[in-house]
Amino acid sequence: MSSPMLWPQQEARRIAERWPDQQTYILETGFGPSGHPHMGTVGEVVRTYYVAMGLKELGKQAEIIVFSDDMDGLRKIPKNIDAPWLAEHLGKPVSRIPDPYGCCPSYSAHMNRELVRMLDQTGIPYRFVASSDMYNGGHFDEVIKRIFRHGQQILDLMLPTMREENRVNWFFWQPACENCGRVNTTVVHEWDPETTRVRYSCTGEFRGIRGCGHTGEQDALGGKGKLGWKIDWAARWYYFPVNYEMYGKDLIDSAKISSEIVKILGGTPPVQMFYEMFLTEEGRKISKSVGEGITLENFHRWGTQDAVNLLMFKNPRQQKNLGPETVIRYMDEVLTLDPADPQYRFVYYHGERPDLGGLRYSDLINLMSAIGITDPDLLRPYLERTFGNARIGENWPYVRELLEKARNYYEDFILPTRQVPDLTPEQWALVDEFLALIDRETEPDRIQSGVFEIAKAHGIPAREYFKLLYGVLLGADSGPRIGGFVHLLGREKVKEIVEAARQKQQEKQR
Ligand SMILES: [Zn+2]
Ligand SMILES: [Zn+2]
Repeated sequence: MSSPMLWPQQEARRIAERWPDQQTYILETGFGPSGHPHMGTVGEVVRTYYVAMGLKELGKQAEIIVFSDDMDGLRKIPKNIDAPWLAEHLGKPVSRIPDPYGCCPSYSAHMNRELVRMLDQTGIPYRFVASSDMYNGGHFDEVIKRIFRHGQQILDLMLPTMREENRVNWFFWQPACENCGRVNTTVVHEWDPETTRVRYSCTGEFRGIRGCGHTGEQDALGGKGKLGWKIDWAARWYYFPVNYEMYGKDLIDSAKISSEIVKILGGTPPVQMFYEMFLTEEGRKISKSVGEGITLENFHRWGTQDAVNLLMFKNPRQQKNLGPETVIRYMDEVLTLDPADPQYRFVYYHGERPDLGGLRYSDLINLMSAIGITDPDLLRPYLERTFGNARIGENWPYVRELLEKARNYYEDFILPTRQVPDLTPEQWALVDEFLALIDRETEPDRIQSGVFEIAKAHGIPAREYFKLLYGVLLGADSGPRIGGFVHLLGREKVKEIVEAARQKQQEKQR
């Protein structure tokens, strides 16, 4: 019996069925270098690589092209780049703006370099292509000529899809103004389908920036400007030619138009898939360091790339919210993913996960909450006792990184809400019974069932009793399985925590 097909395998099949005689396929993924790359950017490439893995299973080859849109004009200054002087460069191609960090030939060269560094760490084979190299080097010249020859058809296709006010100045070619360098403020007045020459004026307006007023004439070839966005996408699909590309739901309409343009040019559009976007939980102000909540951009603060890879593997057509619980859920799942699980070899395409004996991310956070210690070196003995000296020792750099991320999580989400409740004398007596229980029993399962027995003997719901214990131990309403948790902390530490809480309450009441 064969297991149901996973989505990358389904996608691979669609590609192979469209071009059955082809042996190597081109899979494209795009990168917008107007901001820093992040785990989500890498995740996109990983997602494309999943499809490449599916093709490999079919005996096919795949080449991944990571295409950087560095001829795009800068639309706004990213919040995490402190360089107000960039304002004067808005509307210019990001490959022709100085590097805000001063270390690379241009703004986008810096972002491209960051991306390449991140991608090289993944071990995924890919070909990096910068749009500026394609235009400046004349590689796109043939396709640009073809676009000009079919220009009227393209205009007839595009203009009706636009709102009235956007139609006026729209043209499929955006000259870079020879005076100010902007591509977003030029307006084409005349064009020649045969010679690819255009007459333009820099009189448009872009996000509050007015063109410089220059008028000029230029040949579109050789990097003098760029194709408008949907045409540009089509040009790439036609040029390489691309067999497969996935994109966010917001680009469905663009992709439809780009597909039509490829056909006008005489090519075949790629097999495509759209995915749902990741949503940020709204209205969740957490702390200053978190700012706007959890996004793929800041996910690295709490989670690993492997967790993002798993997030990327889960049904791409399902909408996912990103919140603190998502981090815990995906971190725990990826750390305990069974190697026999069909998802495992995709998510861990880069090699096996270290065997940590079932250690979960939430264990680390619970440990920190209970003992109030966040220093990885001080936490190490606790982990060694529960998960084995050798396991933790051999994988210490890996575990240490997990602990550092868990510490960020603890400080951002747990610490601000942590509050140990004041107990009544009766409640303290119940806690003392728990201490007596862990003196008698050492097996996690026996401790767990012992808690139920005590609750039953006192006629209180077990849920209430657990809540009481979590309140004292973690300053929270809920927590992990208590038997395993006692094992993780050690009996003496549990007693210490309880006594400290008791003392604190007594001091308050004095
Ligand atoms: Zn740089
Ligand atoms: Zn200008």
